[in-house]
Amino acid sequence: MTIRKIIGTDQEFTIGKIVCLARNYAEHARELGNETPPAPVLFMKPASSVIADGDTVRIPAYSQECHYEVELAVLIGAQARNVAADKAHEYIAGYGVAIDMTLRDVQNALKAKGLPWEIAKGFDTACPLSDFVPAGAVADPHALSLKLAVNGDCRQNGITADMIHRIAQIIAHISAIFTLEPGDVILTGTPAGVGPVRAGDVMTAEISTVGYLTIPVA
Ligand code: ZN
Repeated sequence: MTIRKIIGTDQEFTIGKIVCLARNYAEHARELGNETPPAPVLFMKPASSVIADGDTVRIPAYSQECHYEVELAVLIGAQARNVAADKAHEYIAGYGVAIDMTLRDVQNALKAKGLPWEIAKGFDTACPLSDFVPAGAVADPHALSLKLAVNGDCRQNGITADMIHRIAQIIAHISAIFTLEPGDVILTGTPAGVGPVRAGDVMTAEISTVGYLTIPVA
């Protein structure tokens, strides 16, 4: 089991399912040659893919192109089913930093064949995930900067204001399909600037107010 804390409290959550959005920042959708979707595009990562700050991403042998994607993570604190967007904030326990590690070559090959992407997104170590700051510590989750550097070089520098689908709408949409349970996590998509890492690189990710991750790659 993977546990994450709410920083500054004694609250802990066992991480459950991780529901992720693809193409939720227009510039990133364009850089991959994808259309901007009218409804959120969803996929999931298993809890077994989660690693902690300081742990190592291990690129599987079946990929030659492993990409980073820095993302704001939303931790669900209460069971949510068919939640209205204007009530969605009541179900958020905290915010954290995640990197959605993606085997781009594998994903592209599967997409081209119309096959599911799980082995490109859900492999062991594919989800570096920080502890969470309490939801009340973040005045506006759509006013945060997201940055990711590789070996100190800034590669992604975005703002959560650029999300196409907003967090409240995302929770309403997802909770009408999958019941969200305490400890479930939503990864809200990545801004432009994604690219590859190789064994020996070190990624540093930062979201203002929310936290940091330092993640070596092997
Ligand atoms: Zn992503």
